[in-house]
Amino acid sequence: MTATLIDGKAIAARIRTEIGEKVAQMAEKYSVRPGLAAVLIGDNPASHQYVSMKRKACAEAGIESFGFELPADVSQAEVETLIRELNDRADVNGILVQLPLPPHLDESRILNLVSLEKDVDGFHPINIGRLAQRGREPLFVSATPAGIIRLLEEVNVEFAGANAVVLGRSNIVGMPVALLLIRRDATVTVCHSRTRDLPGVVRQADILVAAVGRAQMVKGDWIKPGAVVIDVGTNKIDDPTRKSGSRTVGDVDFEAAKEVAGAITPVPGGVGPMTIAMLLENTLRAAEMALGESVR
Ligand code: NDP
Repeated sequence: MTATLIDGKAIAARIRTEIGEKVAQMAEKYSVRPGLAAVLIGDNPASHQYVSMKRKACAEAGIESFGFELPADVSQAEVETLIRELNDRADVNGILVQLPLPPHLDESRILNLVSLEKDVDGFHPINIGRLAQRGREPLFVSATPAGIIRLLEEVNVEFAGANAVVLGRSNIVGMPVALLLIRRDATVTVCHSRTRDLPGVVRQADILVAAVGRAQMVKGDWIKPGAVVIDVGTNKIDDPTRKSGSRTVGDVDFEAAKEVAGAITPVPGGVGPMTIAMLLENTLRAAEMALGESVR
């Protein structure tokens, strides 16, 4: 292996410890703790698992978490009433609406209702809009994109002037990551399912962020020697050698890419743990803002 392994698990653990210390200081100074409300609608098993991981991480950092589980057939009005109540609650600093929502619900309306000051997921249209504008600062950047940038910073990437290629243009990963990279003066190319000559485009990348959701799609010979590779994908593939019969891999062929890249994240243990750490960080910041503490 020639690439430096970017150990998201270790970096996230360090960040979570630091958050825990700040939460303890806040509790001592103000007798309050940050609070996160997690709204979970329906019975998508992955969503249940994500929310339970997030709540466990909150507990470990001393952050209060409040769970709201609503049935899959809940009405739009009921969800909106809940969000309004959470907006008004002083013990709730952050509101997390776990996506995806059942198709009958109007996701855009619901995310729009979350108070800007409690939008710890960074999905409020105003926060996204600010991200896309020069000289404007979003109050919160969504956790996965923020975690990706933090990982790049950890390996001291030179953003300015670098060719950054983002694979995927989703609202939750690809697009916000591309905007964050532009804000750091990288020259950004965003690829998607209609991109021509993907290998050729990827070969130009000094920084590659793969967020496509296709197992090991990016081959080793697509990687520019020395590139920094952040693999966001989480894909299950069959593996008869495992007791479970499957394992999780990224969008990048890790074994081949690690021989060419300068630095690379593993899957699992790269971006995933950072997503949770950044959500906790956003919740702490929301609580600091509510207390009027200086932040940033
Ligand atoms: P989406 O399915 O919303 O978006 C996938 C993107 O990849 C789309 O823009 C799509 O293009 C593009 N794409 C699909 N196939 C190809 C292809 N053959 N060539 C080029 N581009 C392609 O996925 P998400 O952004 O939600 O997630 C991406 C991956 O990241 C998933 O594996 C997901 O599990 C993972 N993920 C991991 C997180 C973590 O914390 N570790 C958090 C969030 C996601 P088009 O727009 O044209 O359809």
